[in-house]
Amino acid sequence: MKTQELLQLVNEFDSPLYVYDASKIESQYKRLTNAFNKVERFRVHYAVKALSNISILKYLKSLGSCLDTVSIQEVKLGLHAGFEPSQIIYTPNGVSMEEIEKVATLGVQINIDNLSILEQFGTKHPKTPVCIRINPHVMAGGNANISVGHIDSKFGISIHQLPHLLRIVENTKMHINGIHMHTGSDILDVGVFLYAAEILFDTAKHFKELDFIDFGSGFKVPYKADDIETDVEEFGKKLTKRFLAFEKEYGRELTLAFEPGKFLVSEAGVFLAKVNVVKQTTSTVFAGIDSGFNHLIRPMLYGSQHHIDNISNPKGKERFYSVVGYICETDTFANNRRIPEITEGDILCFRNAGAYCYSMASNYNSRFKPAEVLWFNGKGHLIRERENFEDLLKNQIVIDLETSKLNYEETVS
Ligand SMILES: *Cc1c(COP(=O)(O)O)cnc(C)c1O
Repeated sequence: MKTQELLQLVNEFDSPLYVYDASKIESQYKRLTNAFNKVERFRVHYAVKALSNISILKYLKSLGSCLDTVSIQEVKLGLHAGFEPSQIIYTPNGVSMEEIEKVATLGVQINIDNLSILEQFGTKHPKTPVCIRINPHVMAGGNANISVGHIDSKFGISIHQLPHLLRIVENTKMHINGIHMHTGSDILDVGVFLYAAEILFDTAKHFKELDFIDFGSGFKVPYKADDIETDVEEFGKKLTKRFLAFEKEYGRELTLAFEPGKFLVSEAGVFLAKVNVVKQTTSTVFAGIDSGFNHLIRPMLYGSQHHIDNISNPKGKERFYSVVGYICETDTFANNRRIPEITEGDILCFRNAGAYCYSMASNYNSRFKPAEVLWFNGKGHLIRERENFEDLLKNQIVIDLETSKLNYEETVS
């Protein structure tokens, strides 16, 4: 998208504002499906938690995507967006048996990630096909908060518990139709992923009725210039070869599935915010914007680096800034960052704001959540309104302090 178009959208919809470029989502989707075009049964399950706006879900559906969900609410959003239950996989962690049973009645593919629930579920519903989430214990690098395949992870059934797992399946006669892993968010090395895949293939041999193998996600996208990213094309070639060989050995047609979130939507999104103040201190120059970690928490939560442009002065002389938010505690987006000279009122553009940005936004400091726009066919479509004061009051119940006090005095006297 062009700078002028982004500035125009701020004029029209005000700031702060999230904007998603549909054509980038499409090109990422096609990049992935092209990389695996030799696999006859290939499925992409978009991870809803990355960005869950209904219009985004519908757009991904139009591209041919299925969904990966982690809560019953995400399942219901997916159904609301028009997905068939059979297009949705549900991969929760630490949720109640009741929720899993409810999702199963909706006809959605269940993915179970612990032995206790597997045994309970298999005993009660032996006929419902279930996928199992394996933890291959492959430490794939990246931020400790987002690496979920290692030994101390709460995710998945440990590969070392395979004998116990097989005993449960045998005793309950349950139907295992899929096998899954999701090793973490930042896979920098295709070799590491393929190593984990081998563990999954070995595990798969123990189950005779599999329909699919789901390799989760782990695609890394670039956040800054010369950042490393997953080489999807090379990965596609290598895994395809291994997968087709395994399929032959297994003797039954299998679907190969992935569940990318970040890969599909991260780079499609930008976050636009206005500079309220430029404040020179003895050590640095702060640019304070009309937003904070309530709207974009990733820098504070994960230390992620979102590239920042000054789209009001793109050709300006570069200077060093600390870009900060308005939340009343440490709220830093970037330290010592080179940005074209900033004047109060300028619009800053944060890149990679499609995944885990709006979906993690809150009302902290009683601020409204921003509006969202989908840029589609050369036009900005508002896909979520900015919140208003009514939204802050919604669900709050004001009690009558006077009456409550009188009643209390009556009971104690
Ligand atoms: C979060 C999640 C994903 C998506 O991860 P990305 O890093 O955004 O691609 C996929 N599968 C499961 C089970 C997840 O929890």
